[in-house]
Amino acid sequence: MSENFDVVVIGAGPAGYHAAIRAAQLGMKVACIDAALGKDGKPALGGTCLRVGCVPSKALLDSSRQYWNMGHLFGEHGISFKDAKIDVCSMVGRKDKIVKQFTGGIAMLFKANKITPYYGFAQLQPGNVVKVSQHEGGDVELTGTNVIIAAGSDSIELPFAKFDGENIIDNIGALDFTEVPKRLAVIGAGVIGLELGSVWKRLGAEVTILEALPDFLPAADAEVAKLAAREFKKQGLDILLGAKVGKTEVVGKGKKKEVVITYTDKDGEKTLTVDKLLVAVGRRAATRGLLAEGTGVTLTERGQVEVDEHCHTGVDGVWAIGDCVRGPMLAHKGFEEGIAVAELIAGLPGHVNFDTIPYVIYTEPEIAWVGKTEQQLKAEGVAYKTGSFPFAAIARAVAMGEPAGFVKVIADAETDLILGLHAIGVGVSELVHEGVIAMEFKGSADDLARICHAHPTLSEAIHDAAMAVDKRSIHKAN
Ligand code: FAD
Ligand code: NAD
Repeated sequence: MSENFDVVVIGAGPAGYHAAIRAAQLGMKVACIDAALGKDGKPALGGTCLRVGCVPSKALLDSSRQYWNMGHLFGEHGISFKDAKIDVCSMVGRKDKIVKQFTGGIAMLFKANKITPYYGFAQLQPGNVVKVSQHEGGDVELTGTNVIIAAGSDSIELPFAKFDGENIIDNIGALDFTEVPKRLAVIGAGVIGLELGSVWKRLGAEVTILEALPDFLPAADAEVAKLAAREFKKQGLDILLGAKVGKTEVVGKGKKKEVVITYTDKDGEKTLTVDKLLVAVGRRAATRGLLAEGTGVTLTERGQVEVDEHCHTGVDGVWAIGDCVRGPMLAHKGFEEGIAVAELIAGLPGHVNFDTIPYVIYTEPEIAWVGKTEQQLKAEGVAYKTGSFPFAAIARAVAMGEPAGFVKVIADAETDLILGLHAIGVGVSELVHEGVIAMEFKGSADDLARICHAHPTLSEAIHDAAMAVDKRSIHKAN
């Protein structure tokens, strides 16, 4: 069987489903193919993000935060209770329900936009033909005037810590424990390690994170990273920097299986024995088997699809977006690329501003930023000024019992244009967008400082930080 479409999208993750829906809105005939199956063994749209990434991890972060707050925050508010318990299966069941709601939501959006879904593995052939090996059996060939590759990414596996789905796992396994592991180790103090490490720590696991690099969160502002390390330590997350794992071994039988991890740090070789090991050392483009011979599409050394700044592969009508191409592996970066490519195909001016992509780590406190860090600006020789303001002096944060953290605004020393906004504290995943909007509109620190912010709100930290850039913060000594 073969059929023609204006646009064939490979992958229904954040990048692919945005591209498909936008292209359909613009009047194109669209097909979207996805190979993924949900926990129930049925096709599930929405990609890593909806099935085993952003959405389920945030569901567990929220459940575990409620539990943690009972023991660590409620007392301060005068609330007491007896016998707090966590039922992990209910918590995971709630997460599964949310995942089902949102993956099912994409199927409904496809229907509403008259997008034809295909369920199976897709391979691009020469001439913009996409061959689909369908789960229901049989191959189909779809020809697209345009093909958008949105194949996403998979977890990187370490040769000395192969996933076994039981004791050595990636994010998929760590979102589905049936009980709280007594001892959990994580290789990689990146975003997944910190978020999923926090989930299980809050529920009572002893969590040790082994990070090969000597610095903690080097991509974040150095002051933010320093405070984050302090706060995580207070919560009992044991983060070992400069720890290089060389070997892992699963020993024991049945429920008594353990993982013995051998690593070296500045003091020499050490071992750590845990019940579960989460490997979270980054992700790689899911491009294995994606391209048949002779398509003309090229892969980089890291297996990503090679594209230009407009996500075009250089082959007529073939585009690639999201985690399988260069740039940060973030759902919202994929959203924007999906929309931009659909608009470019329709002859509109689609574009993504990489300078204003926000970054958020959903730990407690949350970490969020947009733009350049002080370290980056120093390395680039850019003259800048900063203003910061602590949540400890924000009435709303103190009233909530969440005074940790601060907001820092970085502005150009001469023009006052905002170059970055960095924050750690309660609610900063939402607050960071003030910085995003200000930067998109080429705003200055003075602009932010002169905008009326409601009192008492957390956003006042941004207002005062912006005022502090010119040493005129009202609520702290400048
Ligand atoms: P994907 O979401 O990976 O989707 C690609 C889809 O294509 C998949 O469904 C796959 O099955 C399908 N596919 C691949 N190859 C083929 C093929 N040949 N044929 C058919 N189908 C194919 N990002 C954030 O911005 N915020 C977060 O809070 C966040 N949390 C995360 C938490 C975890 C635990 C993880 C693992 C990731 C998280 N991310 C987060 C990253 C985010 O999930 C990814 O950046 C995002 O999903 C990438 O979107 P995508 O569409 O490019 O790829
Ligand atoms: P990451 O790149 O964030 O962190 C990986 C960490 O592992 C790094 O600190 C790295 O130095 C370390 N590492 C690499 N090899 C190692 C080794 N052999 N031993 C010890 N440490 C090692 O990757 P991740 O946490 O796996 O997340 C993958 C992607 O998913 C990220 O690109 C991230 O953008 C995305 N994600 C985003 C969010 C969010 O936006 N909140 C949440 C989760 C995941």
